Amino acid sequence: MGSLSEYRRKRSFKKTREPLPERKHSRTGHRFVVQKHRARNLHYDLRLEADGLLKSWAVPKGPSLDTHVKRLAMAVEDHPLDYADFEGVIPEGEYGGGTVMLWDQGTYEPENGTDVASLLQKGELKFKLKGKKLKGSWVLVRTRARNWLLIKHRDSYVSDEDITETFPRSVTTGRMLAEIASAEGGDVEKAAAGDPVSTGRKKRKR
Ligand code: MN
Repeated sequence: MGSLSEYRRKRSFKKTREPLPERKHSRTGHRFVVQKHRARNLHYDLRLEADGLLKSWAVPKGPSLDTHVKRLAMAVEDHPLDYADFEGVIPEGEYGGGTVMLWDQGTYEPENGTDVASLLQKGELKFKLKGKKLKGSWVLVRTRARNWLLIKHRDSYVSDEDITETFPRSVTTGRMLAEIASAEGGDVEKAAAGDPVSTGRKKRKR
């Protein structure tokens, strides 16, 4: 299941340096990535490999380690596997124009079955993340149409820290959004609006 036709249709590959729409499989078959994306709005894109594609959700508030917090996750178009290594700038005026950070990367294991595509079809995927920042059990459950909820399940990785505030940097390059924009010809001021004001303590967000 799944297709890269919507991904292809939305982009001009003469203008953007995002990966080409090619289906391929990783060694594990279960890569995941979370990209912090300062486009028109700041959001976190969660992508899980399934059938040679990255199934994708835009999570406006990002993941929460608190089991009581249900984060809205809007299903978006499937992305190519190579997108799991993309960090950089999408030109302004292009689809998703803005700055993209590799916020977390790793592998995942489905927990309520093995056929991820069919679990997603049914609207519920329980999975264990093995990332640098995100670990342990989570669930994605569809509420209606493209709306899903991303919820942390109870385990030893539960916390009331706001991990988006405590770990705001790229997992591969250590850069903040503004540093990525600056190095790659993006809109630095716009990107900086997605970075924390300071790395000091902040009130926890729900
Ligand atoms: Mn995005």
